[in-house]
Amino acid sequence: MEEDRHIGEAMTTIRTTCKRCGDVELTTGDIGLELAEDDSTGNYRFSCPTCGTVQRKPANHRVVSILLATGVDYEIVPNLGVITEDEIAAFARSLDEGGWHSELTAQ
Ligand SMILES: [Zn+2]
Repeated sequence: MEEDRHIGEAMTTIRTTCKRCGDVELTTGDIGLELAEDDSTGNYRFSCPTCGTVQRKPANHRVVSILLATGVDYEIVPNLGVITEDEIAAFARSLDEGGWHSELTAQ
């Protein structure tokens, strides 16, 4: 059975998807939000409670609103929206190589 604790609004469960484990449930303490300086979007990062993999996902306006409302820690990141072609290509290459994910979990 899943734990179902609701202590006021202090414990909020956030559902997301781990690329290894599928659906997982996080609490606000598991999540860090990176907000764009001049936008209401950003990214959030979390470490999976099951496998421990740290992941980063894009957060649209709605997701940002939800995360802020639940009280996650956030930081303002300047120029987040500017992604160069080179960065996209490098990211695509790193996905193809396939070795990055064991590097992340090796520690
Ligand atoms: Zn996982």
